[in-house]
Amino acid sequence: MTEVLSVASEVFPLVKTGGLADVAGALPAAVAPHGVTMTTLVPGYPAIRAALGDARPLHRYDNLLGVEAQLLESRLGSFPLLVLDAPALFQRSGGPYGDSHGVDWTDNWRRFAALGRAAADLASGLLSDRHYDILHAHDWQAAMGAAYLSYAPLSARRAASVVTVHNIAFQGRFDRAIFDFLGLPPHAYAVEGVEYYGGVGFLKAGLYTADAITTVSPTYAREIRMPEFGMGLQGLIATRQDIVSGIVNGIDPAIWNPQTDTDLVKRYTSATLANRKTNKTAVEAGFNLSPGDGPLFTVVSRITWQKGMDVLAGQLDVLVAAGARLALLGTGEAALEAQYRAAAARHPGRIGVAIGYNEKISHLLQGGADAILIPSRFEPCGLTQLYGLAYGCVPVASRTGGLADTIVDANEAAVTAGVATGILFDGVTGERIGDAINRTVALYGQPAVWRSLQRQGMKADFSWQRSGARYAALYQGLLARAQA
Ligand code: ADP
Repeated sequence: MTEVLSVASEVFPLVKTGGLADVAGALPAAVAPHGVTMTTLVPGYPAIRAALGDARPLHRYDNLLGVEAQLLESRLGSFPLLVLDAPALFQRSGGPYGDSHGVDWTDNWRRFAALGRAAADLASGLLSDRHYDILHAHDWQAAMGAAYLSYAPLSARRAASVVTVHNIAFQGRFDRAIFDFLGLPPHAYAVEGVEYYGGVGFLKAGLYTADAITTVSPTYAREIRMPEFGMGLQGLIATRQDIVSGIVNGIDPAIWNPQTDTDLVKRYTSATLANRKTNKTAVEAGFNLSPGDGPLFTVVSRITWQKGMDVLAGQLDVLVAAGARLALLGTGEAALEAQYRAAAARHPGRIGVAIGYNEKISHLLQGGADAILIPSRFEPCGLTQLYGLAYGCVPVASRTGGLADTIVDANEAAVTAGVATGILFDGVTGERIGDAINRTVALYGQPAVWRSLQRQGMKADFSWQRSGARYAALYQGLLARAQA
């Protein structure tokens, strides 16, 4: 058995702000069939402490980066879970990264350095009787785990490290002054270390010190070598490209399966697509939409620049003029949310907007809308297009990152061959999004073609089986290298 310590700042179903939580939550089961035992380490936020039940103390720190802390041992479903319980860092109301107004906690550097430190202690065999072969750190919040591990005293039991980038836009960049409190040797403050543009970069430090780097799609793995996508880290990624690979996320069929989904009014398979009509009627009722002949689009997204929501907001009149409707669920930038609310007021019965985060409604939208719009400027993997494919809710997306890797565009050749699964467009501009909306309306008007798009998408295999096997192969490759 290969023992892996997976470290993340959120995990479904306990704490989730985005796709990272889904991945961290699904990985243990995904790699288990491939001879990997995965333990997940997360911070002890109130929601996680509350869900813990009978946790067992594993290790006490009198001083972990200046605070008292302990590692608690519990289970997440049938898999081992470790919780870094440090009340001074994690017991506070608000989100995982900031207060209830969305303002980042000023001590985030200490909170996530502590997480990394504890991860590295576990992975270097310093604590208790635990042994891990691999430390797998997700995003900047866990990336210091790899850095601390590389500066830890050499031990025969030290794990190899993997850093996965779920979104390179979030880097954990802090002032130089924090370096003195990290407990790293002075030489770690260097370009060959944790220094990043005159400060400290947590993701940079992890990417510099990791034995392997993964990101969540092959296209994004290539894109982040370029300045438009690398966001300052393109040079580092390019020089380390031999150890960079892309593994597309899977989806959990226990949660995302239209045949068994209890959040749907009516369940269905690719053979009973007509059942979707009942869900569509429920969406129309919930979003105050009048019935119509054109396609019902949905958006389930953070309402942000990354997701292209500013550009889409400018194309809503085009969408309505094409005879389509839109049901949008999301939260994000206040100014953009206001634009969507205004569009709903301008087009009563055609555009319905729900500002908020609601897991249940997101399922109903995938099961009832005809198409899901994903005009992201960049998209490391993207999950909503995978849910759309599985639910016969045809994805209409920009050709970037994981969207490019998982959707087959309905061009003439792909439609004729019966392999198309969605609509892809190049470049997030109003004109391109408008064209894509019009193309979608035209394809929707050809029922046989539309049904083929839906059925092909539902056939595609985006289960964790495939991705789990690839992560397991990566771990085992690193182990073989270490033992050689
Ligand atoms: P990201 O992680 O960049 O936000 P992903 O597509 O990878 O984008 O993952 C987003 C996840 O969050 C999906 O599971 C999606 O269904 C969910 N989601 C986003 N916004 C909402 C919302 N307002 N309500 C419910 N679920 C949402």
